[in-house]
Amino acid sequence: MALGNGTTENLTAQVAVVGGGPAGLIAAIALKSAGVDVLLIAPTPEESHRTTALLAGSVTALTTLGVWEACTPHAARLAAIRIIDDTRRLLRAPEVHFNATEIGLDAFGYNIENRHLVAALTAHAEHLNIARRTDMALAITSDAASVTIKFAHGAARVRLVVGADGAHSLCRKAAGIGSDRRAYPQTALTLNLAHVRPHDDTSTEFHTERGPFTLVPLPGQRSSLVCVLDAPSAAALAAMSDADLSAEIERRAHSLLGKMTVEPGRGVFPLAIETAHSFARARIALIGEAAHVVPPIGAQGLNLGLRDAATLAELVADAHRQNADVGSPALLARYEAMRRADTVSRRIAVDLLNRSLLTDFLPVHGLRGLSLYLVDRIGPLRRTLMREGVMPATSQPRLMRGEMV
Ligand SMILES: Cc1cc2nc3c(=O)[nH]c(=O)nc-3n(C[C@H](O)[C@H](O)[C@H](O)COP(=O)(O)OP(=O)(O)OC[C@H]3O[C@@H](n4cnc5c(N)ncnc54)[C@H](O)[C@@H]3O)c2cc1C
Repeated sequence: MALGNGTTENLTAQVAVVGGGPAGLIAAIALKSAGVDVLLIAPTPEESHRTTALLAGSVTALTTLGVWEACTPHAARLAAIRIIDDTRRLLRAPEVHFNATEIGLDAFGYNIENRHLVAALTAHAEHLNIARRTDMALAITSDAASVTIKFAHGAARVRLVVGADGAHSLCRKAAGIGSDRRAYPQTALTLNLAHVRPHDDTSTEFHTERGPFTLVPLPGQRSSLVCVLDAPSAAALAAMSDADLSAEIERRAHSLLGKMTVEPGRGVFPLAIETAHSFARARIALIGEAAHVVPPIGAQGLNLGLRDAATLAELVADAHRQNADVGSPALLARYEAMRRADTVSRRIAVDLLNRSLLTDFLPVHGLRGLSLYLVDRIGPLRRTLMREGVMPATSQPRLMRGEMV
């Protein structure tokens, strides 16, 4: 059976991307830019004031795709990262500073509100005339040659589905892929705020016994906050008046940025870690949170998701150029092999760091303190860690290197 691009009878498009979050939009843009016939299935997402710290490779990818220029007015440079042990434990870690210039970068990345990122991506998708359905995919079934997606009205048939439909992925279920999921006893409270002292392009992470309390620069004298707590404490903070909450956050930040004023919009996110058993099966490839969820520590979640999108787009674009099947088992196996190590290593690192904060086991506190001490003192180790955090050596798809897919 010939399944190359020439065999297009009854196909709606070669590829359908299910989900219009940032990962899905970037995948659709990368595919269309490479000349792949793509259908985006994406109800308009809810506007979110939550922010994303996009690391250098992700910013390069967005620049290469022509999206970053529209983001720059809303994005703040992350030139330095400061980690402060704010636990009251016997063995505490030293304060550690990382500067992007140490690894020859102007910035580790940029922080941007998701609503501005999604707006820039949506505008670019429209500019590229990407076909879009704004209704939900209700059912997905694969056979040897194609995948059929059913809607309340009508259906679409494609060679490959890109499952970018988030943590509760229908695509993952349709592919028969299970996942390892563990809920943490933690909830993240998110909001943006103004402050009277400048942040100096520095992100500050206070490590507390309940999880990190992280202030990340936004343009001007503003920052975003991700405050990780137990669920009742997060709910109690979220219910406070603006004035009380502003004062409480300033207290927790040790007045580092002076008086604070919270902006409208608060989010509460119970935390979990989850990895799909496989990233691709039965002509369905998973990207972003459909494939993996990590807690918001070290800004890894969407950066991983963008590397998924860039890697998959590269493989599909190559198959398209060779007139080969864009959903073949060989292509899906290659995608799985290229994404597994990056995803698993980040999962382990984030999970270990988070659990080292939560445990009451003294030797673990000592080990965490010693690790940070060594990172602070040993230059090559610092630089390797910084480079690996921003641009992992094992996963550099073309878009992250500034080349088109
Ligand atoms: C508090 C917090 C802070 C974070 N900070 C960072 C950070 O600084 N840096 C970072 O890299 N990551 C961060 N993350 C992680 C990041 O936000 C996620 O990785 C990212 O939003 C996931 O994007 P996505 O496109 O995969 O999924 P989503 O944004 O969840 O998008 C999925 C989309 O699919 C749609 N969908 C679902 N089902 C269907 C269907 N059946 N048909 C059609 N559409 C469907 C949904 O409506 C949704 O729009 C953070 C996460 C949290 C909770």
